[in-house]
Amino acid sequence: MPELPEVEIIKRSLCKAIDKQSIVDVKQNRLNLRFPFPLNFIDKLKGSSITSFGRKAKYILIYLNNNYVLIIHLGMSGNFLIQKNTPDDDKNIKHTHVVFYTSNNLIIKYIDPRRFGLMDIAKVSEINQHRLLKNIGPDALSNGFNAKYLLKKITNKKCNIKTALLDQNIVGGIGNIYASEALYHSRISPHTSCYGIVNYEDSKNNMKRLVKSVKFILNKAIEAGGSTISDHRLPNGDLGYFQNEFNVYNCESKKCNRKHCSGIIKKIKQSGRSTFFCDSCQELQDHEI
Ligand SMILES: [Zn+2]
Repeated sequence: MPELPEVEIIKRSLCKAIDKQSIVDVKQNRLNLRFPFPLNFIDKLKGSSITSFGRKAKYILIYLNNNYVLIIHLGMSGNFLIQKNTPDDDKNIKHTHVVFYTSNNLIIKYIDPRRFGLMDIAKVSEINQHRLLKNIGPDALSNGFNAKYLLKKITNKKCNIKTALLDQNIVGGIGNIYASEALYHSRISPHTSCYGIVNYEDSKNNMKRLVKSVKFILNKAIEAGGSTISDHRLPNGDLGYFQNEFNVYNCESKKCNRKHCSGIIKKIKQSGRSTFFCDSCQELQDHEI
């Protein structure tokens, strides 16, 4: 599943290829993805120009000059392929559900084998109140996600810190891979309870370290082109390589990479999701004062 770094990379690739261009034509090969396409989907896009790109958590936002925003979520397996508009490149690739033709002679294909992705259109003025976006917390890479905010948000949570990081109402964009990697980087045990962390004598410093780790790991993954788990590719067809830098994710039973740590990477289930962590250098941070 594309997580924040992969979505950000795809957004940047699209922006580089088609920002400020017009959408000359749109071809829609089916009526729905996860949800039905919105009414007049093609009419609202065709003839408009792209004014800017945005992202909120795992949603790509494409702003148009007709006061609409195209909202895209890649679901489990969605991706874009950017090609030159030549007769050879217009052939059908399996699972291509939408094709955009732009004024700089490019074809942008939305490909999604599992069809859990979605596209919707909203008015620019209503974007923050959109049903899919209004409850998402601040983006993990934004200034709104900081130690003070996180501490306040988890004060009354009964879950562990790993589960809290995955809660999109608390912070937008952190998925399972990067939650495990960030907790490892900050040396915080995924078993640590929110209640305990809030009441811990060093809670503020812990939260500062954790927020810093989340941003560090996400930015590092973006630099590396994302993680190629199953089928993530960049829109030009290249693979991301952050998976080579995982310290815990999918590293079960391996020796910890941290200097002077003799711990072993363990895999457990938390709220139905796999969590990977070092059993030695990630400490519980919830001893009450
Ligand atoms: Zn370790």
